Amino acid sequence: MKRLLQLFIFTVTLLSLTIFFSACQPAKEKPTAKHYVWMGEGQNHSTDFLTEIFSKLKDAGISGVMYQCPVDNYEQAVTIAHQNGLELHAWQTIMRHPEKELLKNHPDWFTVSRDGKSTATNPPYVDYYKWLCPTNKEVRNYLVNFVEKLASIKGLDGVHLDYIRHSDVILPIELWEKYDLVMDKEYPEFDFCYCDECCKRFEKETGIDPRTLKDTAPDNEAWRKFRYKTVTEVVDLLTEAVHKKGIKITAAVFPTPTISKTLVRQAWDKWSLDAYYPMNYNSFYEEKPQWVEKACVEGVQAVGDKAELYSGLFVPALTPDEFRVAIKASKKGGANGICIFTPYNMNDDHWAVLKEEIAQWDKQ
Ligand SMILES: [Zn+2]
Repeated sequence: MKRLLQLFIFTVTLLSLTIFFSACQPAKEKPTAKHYVWMGEGQNHSTDFLTEIFSKLKDAGISGVMYQCPVDNYEQAVTIAHQNGLELHAWQTIMRHPEKELLKNHPDWFTVSRDGKSTATNPPYVDYYKWLCPTNKEVRNYLVNFVEKLASIKGLDGVHLDYIRHSDVILPIELWEKYDLVMDKEYPEFDFCYCDECCKRFEKETGIDPRTLKDTAPDNEAWRKFRYKTVTEVVDLLTEAVHKKGIKITAAVFPTPTISKTLVRQAWDKWSLDAYYPMNYNSFYEEKPQWVEKACVEGVQAVGDKAELYSGLFVPALTPDEFRVAIKASKKGGANGICIFTPYNMNDDHWAVLKEEIAQWDKQ
């Protein structure tokens, strides 16, 4: 009986100690959620206009703005954003870069399709689909200078990359009808890049000139990975350049690394950015808003603890009720918050849903 009592006391003591020490362990802190919007300056970017919309965003619980405007207009926007308690990130397109001066002076910097046409002169899908080649060294220098200039803007919180990828080799299914296409496989006119620099480097690395692959090109794993790798190399250079200036670098990417690689050769699971903003635009993939959860789960697993993930939502295709479902799905999928495209597309009901759901986000 005495032994039993001793055993009982020993067990209770051990249990209490275990509970005491586990209580002393610092709990793994969950970062506070943040929520963002993508927006351009629009036609009216006066101080009054920006003050009004930034203050409305802050009131709804938004933390920051991915803002697109000419480089010279950023300083004013940063000042007004900060006055309203918001971060401001410079949102700019990177590889799709249809600048007149570059088209005129450096047509050889632009990507070339498997059927030998340059996006400088024969852009696929739409006239502005003119893309710089990620392998080209002069392009790399040009882009590093471009982001360094952005990162030097006084007070800027971050550089936000967009179109940091190849042109769509396959479009999201919702767009097939729009362009009267059936993109059941990789077709030569949409498959990039076969410029001299890409072909020579790949041949040096593997002994194969990709131009000789023709219709078997999509089956060549090394050639597919080469395209992912050269985009990743550009991202790494830009990351280094922006971090040197002491601010964040983030990107808008396609939903999930799997879809991103298949459609636009964007292997963002291999990048080292501070945060990813996958465009979880369910309607583009003929999916319901609940699908956003699955997309977030795959993205969060891919980036792990290395970076944050904000779930991009496409408001023009979401009713206020669907918007609510998509916000909840983002949270359930493990996102650090949402990013809205765009506040200009929101009606009063969307604003009400946004405010309610952001207030709820950290409570649940
Ligand atoms: Zn190329």
